[in-house]
Amino acid sequence: MFKGIDYYDIESEMTPKARQVRDMVREFVEKEFMPHIRQHYRAGTFPVDLVPRMGELGILGAELPGYGLKDMDSIAYGLIMQELERGDSTLRSFASVQSALVMYPIFHFGSQPQKDHWLPLLESGKAIGCFGLTEPEFGSDPGGMKCTAVKSGDGYVLNGTKMWITNGSLSNVALVWAKLDGVIRGFLVERGTPGFSANEISGKLSLRASATASLVMRDVLVPEANLLPEARGLKGPLSCLNQARYGIVWGVLGAAMACFEEVLEYSGKRQVFGRPLAARQLTQAKLADMLTEITKGQLLALQLAKLRESGRMRPEQVSLAKRNNTRMALEIARTARGMLGANGITDWYQSMRHMCNLESVDTYEGTYEIHTLAMGRDLTGIDAIS
Ligand SMILES: Cc1cc2nc3c(=O)[nH]c(=O)nc-3n(C[C@H](O)[C@H](O)[C@H](O)COP(=O)(O)OP(=O)(O)OC[C@H]3O[C@@H](n4cnc5c(N)ncnc54)[C@H](O)[C@@H]3O)c2cc1C
Repeated sequence: MFKGIDYYDIESEMTPKARQVRDMVREFVEKEFMPHIRQHYRAGTFPVDLVPRMGELGILGAELPGYGLKDMDSIAYGLIMQELERGDSTLRSFASVQSALVMYPIFHFGSQPQKDHWLPLLESGKAIGCFGLTEPEFGSDPGGMKCTAVKSGDGYVLNGTKMWITNGSLSNVALVWAKLDGVIRGFLVERGTPGFSANEISGKLSLRASATASLVMRDVLVPEANLLPEARGLKGPLSCLNQARYGIVWGVLGAAMACFEEVLEYSGKRQVFGRPLAARQLTQAKLADMLTEITKGQLLALQLAKLRESGRMRPEQVSLAKRNNTRMALEIARTARGMLGANGITDWYQSMRHMCNLESVDTYEGTYEIHTLAMGRDLTGIDAIS
């Protein structure tokens, strides 16, 4: 059973409820997900049968008032993400999209009928959602999007293509962002709507167990009631991304811990030149560096949780932590892969799978460079992004 890393007694900052939630998700991942991940990664399939189970456990929309695991704090929410991503970034990505990128905007920007219809379905895992912002030509610069919505009778006609959409091919509902009279608005597009198709993207070498699709819309007519009434402009989708990025800050710690734990155990057993790999000074230096970086990442996550709880968390502070923790986890996974030698290039071990996944996490929800520039703009007052 995964034990987690806690060199600085982070646990003492957790409420009993947060510990209980962490242990519950840890057990779920260990018993119900880990036995199957290798097969799903090889086949490039998502374990869709686990979605209702995640709903049952309260993992979906976990911290929305009245939904999921009621009365959660930011640390408990972060720990859920940590435990899911310890299994595979796929699992955390699924939960992030469903919770922070679909349920969160419906909860905050949706009409009452939209909330009444979709939130219980999404919370229970009876329905799956996706978030369509990125387009083939616009990723870091979503404001340039070409997707359009045009008013027509009692509804809107959508045209355009979305790209790299997590859960896209599995979704019952897609939250599609498109320009209506030049202003970005959110539309709920249901599966089966004429003119709408979701096409799985093949050939991924990262997040292989995740369903990633393009969404194509050709004269898709959605009723007036499917427009999110309270979201106008880029700040709508960006506020959702801020929530999801907060989850990544904690999630990638789980991936880094999994790699660290794997290589710590391996180096104690693997003999090189007649002694354990762990007896070598170079190995001990690598392990000490990994532990130091994980601990620093945990302290960043913990303080960010406190800022979030008190309503003082700024997007640039999220940028700092997402940028640091993701790159940190990626470096740890690469180092662990190397320490496993040839074994490390197989899926008999998990470090390379985490390493490949973390390449996506470094890119999505704002690339490393974009978060660097967000911080640069905050520091200097000069925008170097656009
Ligand atoms: C597995 C996966 C799942 C995803 N899931 C979703 C999803 O569910 N929904 C969704 O909407 N999107 C999703 N995305 C898309 C993701 O958010 C984008 O890939 C990301 O924003 C980067 O956009 P891009 O790929 O178009 O790269 P680009 O924007 O083309 O960037 C290419 C490179 O240029 C750099 N760059 C960009 N601008 C600057 C600049 N001003 N200065 C210096 N360098 C710059 C970038 O950092 C990057 O290195 C997903 C992506 C992946 C890989």
